[in-house]
Amino acid sequence: KRNVLIIGAGGVAHVAAHKCAQNNILLGDIHIASRTLEKCQAIIKSIKEKDSQRSAGRLQAHELDALDIEATKALIRSTNSQIVINVGSPFLNMAVMSACIETGAAYLDTAIHEDPAKVCEAPPWYGNYEWQRRDDCRKAGVTAILGVGFDPGVVNAYGRYAIDTYFDQVESIDIIDINAGSHGRYFATNFDPEINFREFTSTVWSWERGKWKANAMFEHRHEWDMPVVGKNTTYLTGHDELHSMSKNLDVPNIRFWMGFGEHYINVFTVLKNLGLLSEQPVRTAEGLEVVPLKVVKAILPDPASLAPNYTGKTCIGDLVKGKKNGKPQEVLIYNICDHKESFQEVGSQAISYTAGVPVVAAAMLIADGVWDVGHMANVEELDPKPFIDLMNRMGLVTRVRDAQGDRILHPQRESA
Ligand code: NDP
Repeated sequence: KRNVLIIGAGGVAHVAAHKCAQNNILLGDIHIASRTLEKCQAIIKSIKEKDSQRSAGRLQAHELDALDIEATKALIRSTNSQIVINVGSPFLNMAVMSACIETGAAYLDTAIHEDPAKVCEAPPWYGNYEWQRRDDCRKAGVTAILGVGFDPGVVNAYGRYAIDTYFDQVESIDIIDINAGSHGRYFATNFDPEINFREFTSTVWSWERGKWKANAMFEHRHEWDMPVVGKNTTYLTGHDELHSMSKNLDVPNIRFWMGFGEHYINVFTVLKNLGLLSEQPVRTAEGLEVVPLKVVKAILPDPASLAPNYTGKTCIGDLVKGKKNGKPQEVLIYNICDHKESFQEVGSQAISYTAGVPVVAAAMLIADGVWDVGHMANVEELDPKPFIDLMNRMGLVTRVRDAQGDRILHPQRESA
């Protein structure tokens, strides 16, 4: 058994903690550490209510400022944690990774590091932060798996699997992310508004003909007809996974498309044009200094509070095009996740669920040695088959749609 330290106590941490508890046979004690102790305690309460039959291990809440590397190292040591699941804000990554390298614990996260002071950085984003510590991980023999949520994460594994299994040559991977759910609120973001808006206010990078291309947000739109959720309008969006897949997979075109309703775009555009998404402080007539984006965050619904009333489904997948035996080939590998079912199982909405399950699947693959590689890796550098199979058993089922029809994907069986 390997003890796990979860950093952060937001939506994704909530799901990750539940999934660790459900898989206590491999993952031992579960420690949850975040800035606000009460949020860690609330997660433990939820586990005790929902998973009481299964969770036999120790569950403990800790107050931690994860930017304090020494404090994080001390907690890793005192809890004897061998695996750290970092699902706090992306501002914490480099600090938490340092603590892992210095203590020898395995490191997992679900997003690229961000510097709060910088909005638009040069691609590939991993090159500005995580990859700079590649050699240190290798020297310390530390397994660090980057971006192992759904997107980034599972979609990277889908790309790897498609290339290895269905194609001689791949021309393009279009990652399509549709949330066809409804939370019933006037306007809300599905995760931290600050992080969410940063994603849409900077340059949209896409990988086209083997080069980075700069686009503007909402400049390119495309309607996709996806399984279960049907026709949806999406927009070319900048996203983490392009920054590693472009390097690690030999594919000339990789793009990310996110579904947006007109209402979201209207509200977002008004907020942006008024300057309310700015991170630059302004001074009010009363002499108060405020950061507009922080004010917007404070008045929007807490993303976690959306879960109880969320209905509908998400559909996220990779549409891969290329050639097999000289003939054109097209394959869609995807997952459908239901908001209500996620809530019934672990008390979270599907966006958190689809990110929280993969990171725990990865922790389990480290615990049983399959992914315990002893160096830093992005998901597409690892064998996708055990990962996809394990998630099928954990509640995130992968399907494939190709010329043969639509079916559940069992990678180890298909390639046997
Ligand atoms: P939340 O904003 O809900 O949670 C973030 C947590 O981090 C909060 O509990 C916060 O504590 C904690 N935190 C922030 N700063 C510190 C600090 N200095 N020390 C300790 N804890 C801190 O985020 P989500 O759960 O929605 O997302 C978590 C991560 O997952 C993010 O990196 C996000 O980008 C990523 N993500 C990835 C997805 C994927 O598919 N790959 C999908 C969705 C999210 P407090 O509440 O006290 O402020």
